[in-house]
Amino acid sequence: MAERADVLVIGGGPGGLACATLLAEQGAKVVVAERKPVPGPKVCAGGLTWHGLLRHVPAALIERAFPEQDIRTPWQRVVVAEPDPIVATVNRERLGQWMAERALAAGVEVLAGTRIVRLEAHGATLEAVSGRRSAIACGHLVGADGSTSLVRRFLGLPTAAMGIGLNCLHPGSHTRMEWHLDARLFGAGYGWIFPHRETLSIGAYGDIRLFSGRELKERLLRWAAAQGFRLDPRTIRAGLVNYDYRGVRFDRAWLVGDAAGLASGLTGEGIYPALVSGQAVARMILDPAHPGDELARLAARHRQHRRLTALAVNHRRLRRLLMEITALLLRTKVIDFHLLEMAD
Ligand SMILES: Cc1cc2nc3c(=O)[nH]c(=O)nc-3n(C[C@H](O)[C@H](O)[C@H](O)COP(=O)(O)OP(=O)(O)OC[C@H]3O[C@@H](n4cnc5c(N)ncnc54)[C@H](O)[C@@H]3O)c2cc1C
Repeated sequence: MAERADVLVIGGGPGGLACATLLAEQGAKVVVAERKPVPGPKVCAGGLTWHGLLRHVPAALIERAFPEQDIRTPWQRVVVAEPDPIVATVNRERLGQWMAERALAAGVEVLAGTRIVRLEAHGATLEAVSGRRSAIACGHLVGADGSTSLVRRFLGLPTAAMGIGLNCLHPGSHTRMEWHLDARLFGAGYGWIFPHRETLSIGAYGDIRLFSGRELKERLLRWAAAQGFRLDPRTIRAGLVNYDYRGVRFDRAWLVGDAAGLASGLTGEGIYPALVSGQAVARMILDPAHPGDELARLAARHRQHRRLTALAVNHRRLRRLLMEITALLLRTKVIDFHLLEMAD
């Protein structure tokens, strides 16, 4: 293992691997430390939007693709249809492995099963599964370590805006991709049914200011049963979604993806922001004069989503009305489904 890297990336999720690959392709010596034994597995519904990502992912990775999105509220049902798929599903483990292979091919040293346990201004202490510790020095440090980021805490940044998502990979099949905007059950969030190749991702997203994980789980189980799916509570997994964005650059330390708080507070979509911010940070490390336009566009979309989320989270009565108005505007084509996506 290297004792020194130009860039040490903490976290081998989509943000970290996208950043590391681009840096290594340009000749930087990059080490990625990922605490899981293999990069990829993550609590996630695996939804990718056509505008955001789908075009960049090999067809073999796509599980199911949906040119129709079925949106339900207590009062309305809206089917948004387009010639191209609007959202498709991928398996996070397979996506992660594909990204890790690309990183390795570019020359990145990927240390799977390696956790960062201590950070310093110019390096970190790594711990392997065996418990063996070692030090690594680096020129730049990239925190791509997700919603509970150690790097973010090391930088002293608070996290005041957080969503919680629950996901269940349920055996079975389903023809439609469904979004259930029921404010009585999910507050400012929603319940979803995202079909994969052999399973269904059935889950719920909400804001932690409105629900505990336990409450949301009870609601998810109740709602899923009403949809005809008896979920096994033991297979429901929870994950946090940080959407408190406070910038990516902190001297020689950087944050990308969920660690930077770039996921959407409105929908929980975070794969696209992770990839875009990972690549933008790589370009800024390589060229300090890089304007970062892609990041500015992402941050603008993120601000819109955050404003809408705050409106729905803070005003209980308004929430139900907002959901109905959103569905109505989609039904009458006054707004486009893509406004709910993080890609512009
Ligand atoms: C239930 C749920 C459903 C979701 N569904 C969708 C969806 O359908 N579409 C979508 O776009 N987004 C979805 N998201 C959000 C999406 O999963 C994240 O936004 C995305 O994974 C962020 O990528 P990232 O690379 O920033 O972080 P992550 O994917 O979280 O990767 C961070 C990595 O860092 C590693 N790590 C953490 N700490 C350390 C450490 N100390 N040392 C070493 N490694 C460390 C972790 O093991 C992890 O692999 C969902 C989230 C949840 C919770």
